[in-house]
Order: sequence, then C-alpha cells, then structure tokens
Amino acid sequence: MVASDPDCIFCKIAAGQIPCHKIYEDEDVLAFLDVNPLSAGHTLVIPKTHNQTLDEVSEDVAAKIGRVLPRLSRAVKQATGINAWNILQNNGSEAHQAVDHVHFHIIPKDADGGLGITWPADQLVSDEAEPLIKLIREALD
Ligand code: 5GP
Ligand code: ZN
Repeated sequence: MVASDPDCIFCKIAAGQIPCHKIYEDEDVLAFLDVNPLSAGHTLVIPKTHNQTLDEVSEDVAAKIGRVLPRLSRAVKQATGINAWNILQNNGSEAHQAVDHVHFHIIPKDADGGLGITWPADQLVSDEAEPLIKLIREALD
C-alpha cells in the first residue's frame, strides 16, 4: 500500500491538486461527480489513500467507505428523484477499471440512462461448486 501515488489522477483530486465537483469529504473518503457521467448524479466515492484494487484496501478504510455509501446513495436518490441505482466497483482492466485507484460508482438508473449490463448467467453445478467453495474458504485469510 502506498498512501499516495504521484501519477494517480484520483490521488491528485484527493490532494486538491486537480479540481472536482465535490459532494462529500471526511478524513478518509471523498465523493465527487464523475466527469463522464452515465446519468445525472453519477458519483464516484474514493478512499483518500491509494490502492489499485479492492483486495488491497485495509478493513479500516473499507469500513469507512461502506459507512458512507448508504448516506451518499440516499442523497443522490433524493437529489435526482431517481429511485433505482447501481453501485459499481471495477477491479482490473479486464473488468473495465480505467483509473487504478479504488473507487465505487453510484449510478442512478432510469429509462434515459445509467449502467447497461450484459449478464450471461449460467447454471451453478453442485459438483463444481463444492470443490470451488473449499478452495475459496481455504484462501480466506
Ligand atoms: P472505472 O472504469 O475505472 O471504474 O471508472 C473510472 C471513472 O472515472 C470513469 O467513469 C471516468 O469518467 C472517471 N474519471 C476519470 N478521470 C476523471 C477525472 O479526472 N475527474 C472525474 N471527476 N472523473 C474522472
Ligand atoms: Zn491514487
């Protein structure tokens, strides 16, 4: 973990070196409007410390983000009048992460805009699930 990365755009925003449309700030967390919104009110919530992906975030920082997400969701919901929204958190370029500083999207969803998702669901097979959950449980640290 590095507290700040000098080449990271969100670290620069967190440090006030690059402007943003700020919605909320506390000691550890910053929320601001996405510069290329999928819908009006599209908000980004970031920890002020730099980690690339969610698995690298400390429990303490994760808790601080989690604590504020419901409140920010309520505010975006009330301000936009849109009662449906997605929380999106991308990790890795294959998963569409473009900015390598952990962030949560709050994306209002209505008929006119928001997140489009393809969901190519399969059927869970018990014989495959059992060895898989064993591996994941053993990997829990
Ligand atoms: P990702 O695909 O990494 O989950 O999403 C990154 C998001 O950050 C994108 O929605 C993009 O529009 C937004 N973004 C990138 N650079 C900036 C910036 O300098 N300011 C703001 N407000 N948003 C940014
Ligand atoms: Zn950063």
